[in-house]
Amino acid sequence: MNVADSMRVASSLEKLGYHNTDKPVDADVIILNTCVVRQSAEDKAVGRLSSLKPLKMKNPDLVINLMGCLVGVKDNPKLKKRFPFVDVFSPPSDPAPLIKHLLEKEGKSHELDETLARFAYMDGDLVIPDTEQGNLVSSFVPVVLGCSHACTYCIIPYRRGIEKSRDPQEILSDANALVAQGVKEITLLGQIVDRYGLDQTDYPTLAGMLRRLHTIDGLERIRFLTSHPNYMTDELLDVVAEYPKVMPHIEVPIQAGNDQVLENMHRGYTNQQYRELVARIRDRIPGVSIATDIIVGFPGETEEQFQDTYDLLADLKLDVAHLARYSPRTGTVSARRMEDDVPDEEKWRRFRLLEDLQESIVAAIHANYQKQTVPVLFEEKSKKGRWRGRTETNKLVFVESQDELRGKLLPVQIDWTGPWSMLGHLVS
Ligand code: SAH
Repeated sequence: MNVADSMRVASSLEKLGYHNTDKPVDADVIILNTCVVRQSAEDKAVGRLSSLKPLKMKNPDLVINLMGCLVGVKDNPKLKKRFPFVDVFSPPSDPAPLIKHLLEKEGKSHELDETLARFAYMDGDLVIPDTEQGNLVSSFVPVVLGCSHACTYCIIPYRRGIEKSRDPQEILSDANALVAQGVKEITLLGQIVDRYGLDQTDYPTLAGMLRRLHTIDGLERIRFLTSHPNYMTDELLDVVAEYPKVMPHIEVPIQAGNDQVLENMHRGYTNQQYRELVARIRDRIPGVSIATDIIVGFPGETEEQFQDTYDLLADLKLDVAHLARYSPRTGTVSARRMEDDVPDEEKWRRFRLLEDLQESIVAAIHANYQKQTVPVLFEEKSKKGRWRGRTETNKLVFVESQDELRGKLLPVQIDWTGPWSMLGHLVS
């Protein structure tokens, strides 16, 4: 979501006449877009921000813009006091405060309304920034902003505000604009993407939106993330199965395998229901790959409760598990009402147990790709000079080739597989 937000800000600035520079010392404007989903992300953001202070001291004309979840949607006087060298504070997904500041600085305040009308997040006039023009094969289109679910551990609803589906026309015009500029693959984004449209009375569902996007000429692949188990309708799964451009890859977090922990997390489903969902997804979408997210060491999680998560992963053999150690976030229900009582070493131990388990599962899944020929969409050349691309199931594939493969969708025979990637060669 932050990558998508950053691209939109960069796009807005270019429309104002600014250009990208690689060196912070050369910049007139520096935007730091931030994530605070875990303490480690927040620490990183604060570290980077603090490192910008000397630049501002040397060059008082420099405009520093702090953006994203460190700022949040509510006015935050404490943050302003803590970082007095920051000129502009912007909520997630909103370039307006920066645009306003820059126009005022140039004495062009009178142009504000007109400029903002052109630069609003949903202007339907998305321009890929210069630095990525012609290079961007895969891009993101947010379809649901904010979140209203309130998982007890999660800070995102507090920082990104309540759930709001974007207008279908704006989504289509974003997608059309990206494809017209060379993009081949679009990933629709939402904190709970399968809730798309449900907060409005007359919007299509996510399935309906996928059908509409499917008609765009030149668009080769469509993905969406992240889904919540309770909103994965058969209609959605059938669109994935039946529409060739919609990729057979589902990101649907379980977070924990124990029913009590799931209830404490306020997730709204049980271990058994998740197992049935996975069976239903696999039944309706042949060859599907499934990714999940898991938090270990949630407050009160016992060894036996953790074992339920371990057993679930061992049984289901999913393609990807994004693992996290629980990190209390100030203001969330779990931070206010539950003690962070699983020691750090224990969180690490559980994390590594799942990591090892998942590595062996994925190695076995990938081994099945040996000698198979699969379509790969190539994105870019890696530092080692190999072309990097993805299978329909979102597996990373590297191919040695002197040809220009960027943006090409080509059949590749897989020669070698490991838990994190595969190697293959082009077949003519
Ligand atoms: N709505 C998105 C959330 C994105 S955050 C989704 O459902 O995927 C990505 C992942 O970060 C979450 O799925 C969760 O596993 C993890 N996460 C969120 N809050 C956390 C916290 N307080 N501590 C540790 N991990 C957390």
